This record gives sequence, C-alpha cells and structure tokens, in this order.
Amino acid sequence: MNPLSDRVKYLTESATLAMTRLSRELTAQGLDVINLSIGEPDFDTPTFVKEAAKKAIDDNWTHYPPVPGYADLREAVSLKLKRDNNLDYTPEQIVVSTGAKQALTNVMLSLVNPGEEVIVPTPFWVSYSELIKLAEGKAVYINASLENRFKITPQQLEEAITEKTKLVMFNSPNNPTGSVYSREELEEIAKVLERHPHVYVIADEIYEYITFGIAHYSLATFSSIKDRIIIINGVSKGYAMTGWRLGYSVSSLEIAKACNKIQGQITSGTCSITQRAALAALLKGPNENPELVSMVEIFRKRRDLLGSLLKEIPGFKVDIPDGAFYIFPDISELFGKTMANGTVINNDDELCMYLLKEAQVALVSGSSFGNPKCIRFSYATSDERLMEAVKRIKKALA
Ligand code: PMP
Ligand code: GLU
Repeated sequence: MNPLSDRVKYLTESATLAMTRLSRELTAQGLDVINLSIGEPDFDTPTFVKEAAKKAIDDNWTHYPPVPGYADLREAVSLKLKRDNNLDYTPEQIVVSTGAKQALTNVMLSLVNPGEEVIVPTPFWVSYSELIKLAEGKAVYINASLENRFKITPQQLEEAITEKTKLVMFNSPNNPTGSVYSREELEEIAKVLERHPHVYVIADEIYEYITFGIAHYSLATFSSIKDRIIIINGVSKGYAMTGWRLGYSVSSLEIAKACNKIQGQITSGTCSITQRAALAALLKGPNENPELVSMVEIFRKRRDLLGSLLKEIPGFKVDIPDGAFYIFPDISELFGKTMANGTVINNDDELCMYLLKEAQVALVSGSSFGNPKCIRFSYATSDERLMEAVKRIKKALA
C-alpha cells in the first residue's frame, strides 16, 4: 500500500534542484562536472552582510522573530521600494519569508481556490506549475516564443483571461530566459489588466538588480492596477544570499494578513540571524555596493561570452537576453540526429542526459520550464569553465 497523498504523487521534483543533485553526485564520484544547472550567483555574500550576521549572533538575536519579519526589516523593505522603484508601501504590507519560494507559496495558497485559473507565460520557472498544483488551481499556459524574445504579447494575455482567472504569474527579468520587459511593454500589459478587475498578478522580481543596459520596472508602478499586484522579491540573487533563505511579498494589507496567517502555521517566519543580515543588505542600494556592482558587470561579460559561443554551435538558436544569468537556446534542430556514439537524441531531456554523460556538463531541459524545444544554461560560473563547457558540448555534438 502506498501511504502518500495524491498531492505529493502529482507533484514533480524541482528539475533545477534534481539536476544539481545529479551533478553533485557525479562530482563526488570524482568526475569533473561543469555545473551550469543551478540558478544561483557563484559569488560570496558581501562582507558587510556577513559581519551583520555575526554581530546578530553575539547580540543574541536568537529568539522567535515576529512571523512576518522584524519591524525594522519590513521598514527597510518599504524604504527599498521607495528608493529603487518609487513605490509607496507600508511595512504592514510586507511579509518576510523563508526565501522568495515561500513568499510565492504563501500568496498562491492565500489567493487560489481549487479550479481557479492561473495564467502562466511559458517558459516559466519550474516551481510555478507545482505551486499551482499544491493550491489545486488550474494552470493556463501561454507561449512566449523565442521570436518575440520570450515575452508574451498583450493580445495573448487578453485572450487567455476568462471569468475563472484568478492570477497571472509574471516574471521579469525571467528565469529561464533572461528576458526583461521594457517599460513600454509593461504599460501594454497593464492596460489589459486594467480591463479585468478580477485578475491578480504575482510580479516575481527576484532578478531585479541583474539587468544589462535596460532598467527593471515593476508592474506595480501602474497605479490603476497597483492594488492587484503582489510583488515577490528577496535577497537571494541580487545580494548573493541564496543559502540564507530570505524573500518577501508586497501586497494589499488584506493579502499580507492572509500570508502572515499561513506562515504563522507553517514556518513562523525565517531565521532571525538571516533577517538581521538582510536588514544590512537592503539598507544599501544596488549602486552603493561595489561587490554587487561588480557582480552584475561580470554577469554581463559572461552573457556576452556564452551568448557568442552558443551561437557558434550548429543547431543552436540563441536569443541574447537582457537580464538574470541564464541563456535558453532552442536546440530542437538536433532532435532525431544520431550522435557519434550511436545515441539518437529525441528530445530536450535526452540531450541534457547525453551532454551530462558525454561532456560532463550539467544543464536543465526546457520541458521543466514548459518549453521542450530549449535547454537552460546558467552562466553563474567562471569564463574558463564556460569556455570549457562549450568546447566539450561542441565535441560531444560533432
Ligand atoms: N523566483 C524565481 C524566478 C527564481 O528563479 C527563484 C530561484 N531561486 C525564486 C523565485 C526563489 O528564490 P529564493 O531562493 O529566494 O527562494
Ligand atoms: N531558482 C534557481 C534555479 O532556477 C534555484 C533552484 C530552485 O530553487 O529551483 O535554478
């Protein structure tokens, strides 16, 4: 007899984390695997943030924090929203969570009833589809094509909205494509949303600081729809703090209270030491922090390097993205081809497995992000490793 709930049976393991696990296992066996599967900065957390955490331990910030986060931390998020996005929110509208992942979960469980529709532009980050399943919502996918630089059009959104639509998942800069919507494009999306006052939007802005030559704008900037936007953000990507586990939601007071209620029953909020570290991080804007300015500049150079190298591989179609640290080439031209060792590549999963075995390069297949024609490269590693990875891939595909 299988004791597991249907809920967990229908849930898919996070493909990004699964590929990373596989890559770590092979590395432990002594193989020289180049891991381009995990989406996290390879940089260390800035020194002043680490110092704040050490001090927090010595100062005994070791008790249960308030469920939605310390008051001064939520005040700092409120100041950040004013400083970086010119948005006015009170600390009470902010709920600090165990990573942006929990912030997303809180919002999903707070808003979506069984059977309600959640519009998800594809490609999407792997956890969106699974969180919708957990909330028993119905995902409605709309395809953002490579030809349109992986961005949906306002018309596509308009056509997908029904009276059952509860929520739209919107992610810019995007994981896995790196696409960034311009202010003009966002304005067009906002106009569609204006016409449908029953629709809420999760604006996942976790890669906000990682853009190259194009500014990030928040959908919440458009005042006519601001009360229906829930911003998700955190310190994982922009401050190189993935392991600390701190994200937050920004919403109407009503939704913030609901998230607080859920979080109070599940985790009681995130780690007290992490919160003191995040406070130090958030009080410094992206440009006041030389370590982070240089991180983004290095990502830009790597994007240029990897982008031009991938374009040279026969069968790869590449959009050079404007943000995050991913490139998502279309490799569907390779399907049906026989490799030198006799392996036939039928789909994106098989290509990823083939490249892991033959080239020892770990990537994530596009299917997990809702686009089976593509594969994801995370370029959060050194130039040398990126060049070596492409060299090995070329050889394996020759
Ligand atoms: N949203 C997106 C688009 C992401 O890529 C990630 C990656 N981790 C998250 C949310 C979750 O971030 P966190 O590490 O803060 O949970
Ligand atoms: N978001 C990152 C990624 O896409 C981290 C892994 C995860 O949480 O899924 O690889």
